[in-house]
Amino acid sequence: MTQTQTGEALAAEGTPVIELRHVDKHFGSLHVLKDINLKVGKGEVVVVIGPSGSGKSTLCRTINRLETIDSGEVLIEGKPLPQEGKELASTRAEIGMVFQSFNLFAHRSIIDNVTMGPVEVLGVSRDKAREEGMELLRRVGVAEQAEKMPAQLSGGQQQRVAIARSLAMHPKAMLFDEPTSALDPEMINEVLDVMVELARGGMTMVVVTHEMGFARRVSDRVVFMADGAIIEEGKPDEFFEHPTTERAREFLDSIK
Ligand code: ADP
Ligand code: MG
Repeated sequence: MTQTQTGEALAAEGTPVIELRHVDKHFGSLHVLKDINLKVGKGEVVVVIGPSGSGKSTLCRTINRLETIDSGEVLIEGKPLPQEGKELASTRAEIGMVFQSFNLFAHRSIIDNVTMGPVEVLGVSRDKAREEGMELLRRVGVAEQAEKMPAQLSGGQQQRVAIARSLAMHPKAMLFDEPTSALDPEMINEVLDVMVELARGGMTMVVVTHEMGFARRVSDRVVFMADGAIIEEGKPDEFFEHPTTERAREFLDSIK
């Protein structure tokens, strides 16, 4: 069975992990999200692409309410995203997010970066968090850096730690917003490889990226955004071989 079929089969099975229904958002007079409808099923990998300024980051940020929305609904496992308070904090903790900038805590060691969330938010014991944290650092290939400070690591290593830190919270889904855009070219693959493994392991993922090779190989679905709207979506092969809209054709030509 191909990965595409696996993702779709799972998606068809039950409630989407993430669902946006008729989501609209403005920044002042700028209509930044226009009637966005999106479902991400369990185990599905959805890649979001589109020109700069098309609303991809804002879309990601609405999923864990780092941005509010004007209308529509965001549902996590079928439940509306809580508006505020403890409930919001706990839902947020269930959705991992990895940004372009690595966002590690600069004055804490690598292992502390990974164990802080589980200890402070989930109430896991320090020993258990450390054991799990070391296992995650091994998984992303930086276990030998555990006692170092973030600044002592390369960008690619820091981004892998950021992924391990998110995974330590046992997220229901992971959002990646251009996770390799700030990296030197030789470090891009080491981060993408970790994401590929994650996808293969069945993680539900939304990935904003310009890495078209990754999109083609790993995604179950490509969503193309322009001017705040989803213009086109499809299976990666179909989308890349036969985009149906002029906007998507133009975009794909521009990045060749
Ligand atoms: P993308 O990630 O696709 O490049 P963004 O979601 O970052 O796009 O931005 C979409 C549009 O919203 C852009 O025109 C951007 O300038 C604008 N924008 C983003 N964040 C804010 C903000 N906090 N206040 C005002 N405008 C914003
Ligand atoms: Mg962006």
